[in-house]
Amino acid sequence: MNRYHVWTVGCQMNKADSERLGAGLEQLGLVWTPKAKDADVLILNSCVVRQNAEDRVVGMLTSLKPWKESNPGVTLALMGCMVGPKSDELRARFPYVDVFMAPQQFEPLIRLVGDKAGIDPDGCVGPLVPGHPNVTTHVPIIHGCDKFCTFCIIPYRRGREVSRPLDELVEECHKLVARGVREVTLLGQNVDSYGHDLPGAPDLADLLEAVHDGVPELVRIRFLTSHPNDMSERIIDAVARLPRAMECINLPFQAGSDEVLSSMRRGYTNAQYRELVARVRASVPGVAMVTDLIVGFPGETETQFEDSLAMVQDLRFDKVHAAAYSTRPGTIAARKLTDDVGHEEKQRRLHAIEAVQESVLTEINAGYLGSTQEVLVDGRSRGRWQGRTRTDKLVFFDDERDLLGRLMQVRITKTTPWSLQGHLDEAPA
Ligand code: SF4
Repeated sequence: MNRYHVWTVGCQMNKADSERLGAGLEQLGLVWTPKAKDADVLILNSCVVRQNAEDRVVGMLTSLKPWKESNPGVTLALMGCMVGPKSDELRARFPYVDVFMAPQQFEPLIRLVGDKAGIDPDGCVGPLVPGHPNVTTHVPIIHGCDKFCTFCIIPYRRGREVSRPLDELVEECHKLVARGVREVTLLGQNVDSYGHDLPGAPDLADLLEAVHDGVPELVRIRFLTSHPNDMSERIIDAVARLPRAMECINLPFQAGSDEVLSSMRRGYTNAQYRELVARVRASVPGVAMVTDLIVGFPGETETQFEDSLAMVQDLRFDKVHAAAYSTRPGTIAARKLTDDVGHEEKQRRLHAIEAVQESVLTEINAGYLGSTQEVLVDGRSRGRWQGRTRTDKLVFFDDERDLLGRLMQVRITKTTPWSLQGHLDEAPA
């Protein structure tokens, strides 16, 4: 039993969890294998935030049944948001799964693998820091969410907010740098509420400063996802002030209509959101704004949808993650509201948002033409180097040398709504 594979769907938090579980398994002597069916220990890290994500997990679980039955010695684990506090129903539905683990609950699998290998995990599994991280990686800083937006299943699956100690996070960043990491994204469902539950109540601004000053080898620091009600002046000021904090803020608005926002229990109005974006832009010149929104929320009228469309048109976001509403059993919306906007209509609204956003991005990205951008090179794609600007724009360029992890100056020669292309403006620093 020496090969493992983690199959992951869902958000960056799930990907970070998968990396950390992998680190624990490697401390027990397992090695990663790229193919799921070659693994002796296979973990599915699941997501239920939308119906299509849950359908993918169920499809994968179903397809693995014959494999597991003909390989009874392998260990199959289901982790993540599909596993709530109670897993009885899942156990009955998928009896061939050996272990069920809620998000971040790595211990049952670590213990099982340790027992099978005759190793006591208590003595030999240290802090779970990814062993082979990418040049850019994610660091979970706060788990769970206290907001209970009516459409969202996350608080029921990931629990209430629990922040990780500031010193532990700085130490983890040191370890990541020693493993080749150049950029970290500090991660939370609501990253702006970091620290309120810790002694002395440090906030995200304190953490940004501690990582910035304490780990100078990190060339870039990002964070996501923010909540409009918790994005404080101190956080905005930290982004403006700290040279290696990137000018990119992910601030979901979810709906443009005040009635829909109230029905979602988001806790702010259209005007308050617009005012916050204006304040961020005034304080952080050139900042890129990213947002999430839902179309077809229960009761959303055409006029209310047009309020969302107007937000996308007016606020000129650098990225919009738009999704059609899907009912998540157990949420407040599932219990109290009727999913009354039809599938076709949701798709029409989604396409309308995408069309507006494409034209906004065509204009925004055209503004980069002829400029020179600082790009952190994070990989190769189709024979070309790729990296990101400070504002998280994807850039492609050609060069024969090994530039992975290098900060390069790239002159932008071509733009599309989705990426930029260019050539090096100087030799590597
Ligand atoms: S802030 Fe709202 S949408 Fe975000 S994770 Fe918490 S409950 Fe879900």
